[in-house]
Amino acid sequence: MVKEIYIAGEWRLGRGPVIQSNFPADQSLNAEIASASLDDVHEAIVKADQAWRQSAWRHSLPHERAKILYRVADLIEARAEQLAQLQTRDNGKPLAETRALVMSAAATARFNAAACETLNEELTTQRAADFMTMSVHEPVGVVAAITPWNSPIASEVQKLAPALAAGNAVVLKPAEATSLIALELAKIFAEAGLPKGLLSVLVGRGAVIGDAIAQHPLVRKISFTGGTTTGRHLAHIAADKLITTALELGGKSPTIVLADADIELAAKGIVYGIFSSAGQACIAGSRLFIHRSIYDRLLKRIVEISAALRVGHPEQPNVHMGPLINAKHLQSVHQYVELAKAEGGQVVLGGEALTAGELSKGSYYPPTIITGLSNQAQSCQQEIFGPVLVVLAYDDEQDLIAQANDSCFGLAAGIWTENYRHAWRLARVLEVGTVWINTYKKFSVSTPFGGFKDSGIGREKGRLGILSYMQQKSIYLGLSEQANPWAE
Ligand code: ADP
Repeated sequence: MVKEIYIAGEWRLGRGPVIQSNFPADQSLNAEIASASLDDVHEAIVKADQAWRQSAWRHSLPHERAKILYRVADLIEARAEQLAQLQTRDNGKPLAETRALVMSAAATARFNAAACETLNEELTTQRAADFMTMSVHEPVGVVAAITPWNSPIASEVQKLAPALAAGNAVVLKPAEATSLIALELAKIFAEAGLPKGLLSVLVGRGAVIGDAIAQHPLVRKISFTGGTTTGRHLAHIAADKLITTALELGGKSPTIVLADADIELAAKGIVYGIFSSAGQACIAGSRLFIHRSIYDRLLKRIVEISAALRVGHPEQPNVHMGPLINAKHLQSVHQYVELAKAEGGQVVLGGEALTAGELSKGSYYPPTIITGLSNQAQSCQQEIFGPVLVVLAYDDEQDLIAQANDSCFGLAAGIWTENYRHAWRLARVLEVGTVWINTYKKFSVSTPFGGFKDSGIGREKGRLGILSYMQQKSIYLGLSEQANPWAE
């Protein structure tokens, strides 16, 4: 049976083409979904705007909106296992990872509920002035949330929770590959009591449906996570409409290992930083700089640990890496490995797709480690979005800093050292939005996240994340008994 989508609070067949959701592990069919048409986009946005203007939502009290988000968190937790399994079917990530993403989504909903209840407006007084001002924050209206396939549910709630907490309506366009989990989330928001019309989940192709949503005149903010090219395109649309955007884009994040680092901790952290999610993460620590004095020792250990990682069916326990999202993406990853070889790189681990037995049914690629490149090589500059680590040696710290910053991206960086003063100095000169010191890929819901340079603009998360979905209004209260000057 073809699956319905969620248009302005109604479950119905989209009027666009029927698309297939397949399990990346073996290509079996998960579902057929009737995707949205351009008419569906228009209808969903007009109704979202009406729901936002006419329902009590935009004027509701923060604790009333928070109540719904608390319920969303509880429902996500209650269905955690089912959601994790569905997400694994959608994008092929191992269950251990999808379980963590589900719990992170619940935590994000709860955090935003609490933040929403406790945000205060600002009262400003001037002692000599005969007025007082109050600065209030108001929702912007309809928000477009456009999300990628690599960390669904977590990325979706990261946008929906603050946008709705702020009193907006949201039109969500999930990545085609992960539509099922987004539709499941729509059920949860509806069950939690979100008034009808305030949320639509429009499944469909990015270049058609995502683009139409962003272009629609009633959409007043675009919150996007995905590739830099798409992000730049959406920024142009937003510039024309004079609306704000939050863009969380790609990365080629450097990890730096200083001479005094704990080799064992660093090796394990680096392997996790690049190979978890099979490297399909914007924050993957994909460019490694090791001080030459420990280069051989650390590289040997990284190769040993990586070679022992289990790549396999994502529903099997103890699997570290599942398949890549699809065959086209595997091709792209492999082409980068070929490019690295052509640029003079040596593949010291991996480098060929895995096709033995059951693995032939999915797009499996092993942990791949490449040495011998210069930072200028294209394979060290471009985002591969797969399990490929490039490893470089450095001698001089100033040169290291220049190389680490010599990237169009600026999403994240890792530093491994026993000396925190040294780490602090380095952290302050790296041109990135997040620095992990002696850890990697850890996330706190209360800590702002976003990129420098081509890795994006705007920040998500944190207590103030809700305010990025609002605009300020200042209200002056006259206190004087006297008429304003000039008025006779
Ligand atoms: P990824 O490589 O993660 O798929 P994309 O930037 O292509 O990165 O996709 C992220 C999200 O953006 C997906 O939901 C996708 O459908 C959507 N998207 C892709 N192209 C466009 C576009 N031109 N306009 C709006 N959304 C788009």
